[in-house]
Amino acid sequence: MVVLPELLAANERYAAEFAKGDLPMPPARKVAILVCMDARIDPAKALGLEEGDAHVIRNAGGRAADALRSLAISQELLGTREVVVIHHTDCGMLTFTNDDIRQRLADNVGDAAAAQAAGIDFLPFADLEQSVRDDVALIQSSPLLHNDIAVSGFIYDVHSGRLNRVD
Ligand code: ZN
Repeated sequence: MVVLPELLAANERYAAEFAKGDLPMPPARKVAILVCMDARIDPAKALGLEEGDAHVIRNAGGRAADALRSLAISQELLGTREVVVIHHTDCGMLTFTNDDIRQRLADNVGDAAAAQAAGIDFLPFADLEQSVRDDVALIQSSPLLHNDIAVSGFIYDVHSGRLNRVD
């Protein structure tokens, strides 16, 4: 069973009522949101974003090391001047180590996966607040990014839907 037919049916309904086809490419609110890919988080709803407002960069954990390429493009080519980093409670990244996922890939995917995974930091973390601080610091110190912009970090609570600032 694949979910694709349901997605395409939903897109037909979406496109039938779509009326925002003339938005400019640069985000109107000049902000990039870096947030975990967790399925329970809807950044647009949680942050009041409309189409055209913001770049939303998502990856496993909302990790900065995995987002520098996108952030550089966001800032340099599309004019964003603020970054908001959002990790969250009950994140899957708290549940494994690099060795764990490398072993699973070796067992379940194969030797080629194991060989490649040996050279990848999957960026898991054991301390949620520290992971936010680390990623804010990485963005602030990255030579690729403007260093005069606002960078803030938060933990999203998946039970309450609330953002809690990490200082
Ligand atoms: Zn997560």
